[in-house]
Amino acid sequence: MSAADQVERLTRRLLERYPPQTTGRTAFLAAQYDAGLTWVHHPAGRGGLGGERDAQRRVFELLTAAGAPNLQVESRLAYSMGAPSVLEWGSGEQQERYLRAIATGERWCQLFSEPGAGSDLAAIDTRAVREQGGWRVTGQKVWTSMAASSQRGMLLARTDPAQPKHRGLTYFVLDLATPGVEIRPLRQITGEAEFSEVYLTDVLIPDTDRLGPVNAGWKVAMSTLMNERDMFGTKAAESGPVELALALYRERAGGDPDLRTRMVRLWLRGHVLRLYAARAARRSTGTPGPQSSVSKVGFAELNKDGYELCLDLLGDEALLYDTYEPDELTAPSGAGASQDPRRLFLRSRANSIEGGTTEIMRNILAERVLGLPAEPRVDKDLPYSSLRRG
Ligand SMILES: Cc1cc2nc3c(=O)[nH]c(=O)nc-3n(C[C@H](O)[C@H](O)[C@H](O)COP(=O)(O)OP(=O)(O)OC[C@H]3O[C@@H](n4cnc5c(N)ncnc54)[C@H](O)[C@@H]3O)c2cc1C
Repeated sequence: MSAADQVERLTRRLLERYPPQTTGRTAFLAAQYDAGLTWVHHPAGRGGLGGERDAQRRVFELLTAAGAPNLQVESRLAYSMGAPSVLEWGSGEQQERYLRAIATGERWCQLFSEPGAGSDLAAIDTRAVREQGGWRVTGQKVWTSMAASSQRGMLLARTDPAQPKHRGLTYFVLDLATPGVEIRPLRQITGEAEFSEVYLTDVLIPDTDRLGPVNAGWKVAMSTLMNERDMFGTKAAESGPVELALALYRERAGGDPDLRTRMVRLWLRGHVLRLYAARAARRSTGTPGPQSSVSKVGFAELNKDGYELCLDLLGDEALLYDTYEPDELTAPSGAGASQDPRRLFLRSRANSIEGGTTEIMRNILAERVLGLPAEPRVDKDLPYSSLRRG
């Protein structure tokens, strides 16, 4: 029996033993974890079977068809970014504790960006000062997606300002219920408040919630970011601007040659990117490499162009988006979010910013994939405390 058949058989058996309609959500997710079907490419005992990453797609297809929870959609940051970072950097105790929590539905957010640290992420200024048993953290984060609906955050903080900016950073997993954490949702152009500002004032984090060595947070963050780029590429592949545009085209385009050319070009780009993403997904284990920036850039641009075409096909109706409702405030994009092309158009504007901008992705591809000369980084070796900021 092939590995793919075995995964399929195990998933069907899970669904038989724990029918999603009559099994509690947590019980079902725990059984999925114990069966090695949460992340099939993880080792046994860590929610996996040591199998191929690509096989997970089939697990989710079967789970979704049976009405079971799908963590890849419902808690995508924890599932696709937190878990791989924990697997790569966590102690055995942390792997067991965090992976089981994520597998049973805990949501995480990513507390990286700050008002002065976006593309230049190493410039973060949130400070973590060591004290008895843990760390005292103070600072401000911004654009934190899903913060209002998450239980934990992947937090990058400065622990040694005397070191150059990429060193002297440490990575923590912050329990968002800790006193001193204040989450203020920010309204977006779509009407939702999917992301927030997060203020941290004298927040005490136990040392047992530090992920990776002290002052090695940059390396841990890179593992999170590589998985984020990969996740954005895959997610965009499934969100279907090409399909949506094609449906509208068939309904409304008439004989317009310009729309026809745009539609065909979009369809071809979609196929090329899907083939690229499918090939990348076939790698068996490990952290995605700089090549994942191809998918990140490609799908961001495809989404933006695709939803723009949808709006042009809608004509005047494109202006009739009025879902600026308070009850949309905390709705996370993804699970259950409206698939109205007008909302998707507005949301897609952020695709070339979130998870690293297209300009930065192109720099990564130029330097790390094509081997072109690197851009000058004059402050790379200076102590963080001596840098001019503002
Ligand atoms: C919808 C959304 C969700 C987000 N969610 C999160 C989240 O959950 N957690 C989190 O930590 N962050 C999140 N972010 C923040 C995101 O990662 C940053 O916005 C992004 O990294 C860009 O940083 P910046 O906004 O500070 O822009 P800046 O870094 O100020 O960049 C401004 C412009 O300058 C360009 N630029 C900057 N440096 C260079 C360079 N060296 N070469 C060429 N061009 C350059 C950029 O590409 C960009 O076009 C989110 C952002 C958005 C829009």
